Amino acid sequence: MDLTVLFTISHGVYLTGARDLDNRLVGSCIDAVMVVEASPAQILVSLNKQSYTAQTVLKTRRFSLTVLSDDASSDLIQLFGMNTSRTTDKWLTGSYTLTDDLPIHNDAVAGLIVTVDSVSETSGHYVLLCSVEQAIPGTMKNPLIYHDYQNRKRKEKIMSETKKWVCSVCGYVYDGEVPFEELPEDWVCPLCGEPKSVFVQE
Ligand code: FE
Repeated sequence: MDLTVLFTISHGVYLTGARDLDNRLVGSCIDAVMVVEASPAQILVSLNKQSYTAQTVLKTRRFSLTVLSDDASSDLIQLFGMNTSRTTDKWLTGSYTLTDDLPIHNDAVAGLIVTVDSVSETSGHYVLLCSVEQAIPGTMKNPLIYHDYQNRKRKEKIMSETKKWVCSVCGYVYDGEVPFEELPEDWVCPLCGEPKSVFVQE
């Protein structure tokens, strides 16, 4: 069985938001959300059992969902996806608005407020059937698709691993679209005007 096949079943990228029992705003980044009923609106949401936000939501039975836009920053996704709300404040002042006392990120294509109707469990996840209490349109951008986000991350990794051409005179780092090797011989450093020959690879 080739489990990479499962990555072809794509979905969006979402932030969850909730208030824990100490009234702190908590949240996580998830990808498994599915609309299962339009009227009355119900969605299925899968949350990792280890997640502090999942454990919070099981108690409070309410949370928000931010549908991220396709230009949501990787930093934002990593902040919510790679840290625990147990110790990290993810909802930064000014980055969200409150609806029914729950946070929806400003970079949202849409925001939802949901309540938990029922919970099923797999070995690693809580699968929540939720009723949509509020559905708020956001920016007019496209939603971020998980598959596209994976591709973007792959490109960013390649870019960060590629050696950079740096001007040895002024420190300017070349970041143009054209590969450095293919620049014409009379190309000069845009910062200090020195020739291509003074650039070194770092
Ligand atoms: Fe230079």
